[in-house]
Amino acid sequence: MDEQKIKNKKLIKKRFCSKGHLFIISAPSGAGKTTLCKALLDRFKNMVYSVSHTTRKPRGREQNGVDYYFISQEDFEKGIRSCKWAEWAEVHGNFYGTSAKFINNCLTCGNDVLLDIDVQGTIRILKQYPDSITVFIMPPSLDTLRARLKSRGTDNRDVIAKRLANARKEIAKKDIYRHVVVNDRLSEAITELVSIIEKYHKNAHLQHL
Ligand code: ADP
Ligand code: 5GP
Repeated sequence: MDEQKIKNKKLIKKRFCSKGHLFIISAPSGAGKTTLCKALLDRFKNMVYSVSHTTRKPRGREQNGVDYYFISQEDFEKGIRSCKWAEWAEVHGNFYGTSAKFINNCLTCGNDVLLDIDVQGTIRILKQYPDSITVFIMPPSLDTLRARLKSRGTDNRDVIAKRLANARKEIAKKDIYRHVVVNDRLSEAITELVSIIEKYHKNAHLQHL
């Protein structure tokens, strides 16, 4: 093989290797997604979090541009009309959307992208990105979920009741996910998630050797 061919092969290999993975994490509200996502982002420096846009009001210490982009209903609807969202959904009476431009840019640049979205959003993303790696986080029980929502101290009784009702519906759809992780002991759930992600990194590396 001449020198140019070897160089091209190396470049192609590099391009394939450098495409990122899309990881989707879903869970009933209060099951620990935010906590687990933070742990993954600390661990994997090449992974970026897709900050969603939402019409809901900030909760507790949430910051605009960090936890969510908090936008008006009008701007959200504009986003729908201009095809800004890779997916969007109404959850608990508020609207949430994922920026298509953000995730496409990150994946092309070789970053892994972490999405924390609901079940409806996952179904929609899978239509466009069928290779996404989907993980459903389960609470150990609904009683534990209720206790975590209460202890978080950011939602009133009505909101907690709404979130628990929705949790039952979401758990019923967990089988559409490739992986299910129970978040009972935090450290064990993190270890399990890390090993799932590392498995995909290893497979991608082997495929392109
Ligand atoms: P979500 O993002 O799914 O709504 P959070 O990450 O905000 O959930 O977690 C809800 C509450 O439960 C928080 O107070 C968090 O500190 C707590 N928590 C998360 N994981 C665990 C766990 N494995 N054991 C005990 N408490 C947990
Ligand atoms: P919370 O209001 O508790 O932050 O989130 C409520 C639900 O909305 C969670 O299940 C969360 O995963 C989901 N969610 C957050 N961002 C998005 C998004 O961009 N799209 C969709 N479909 N769901 C989202």
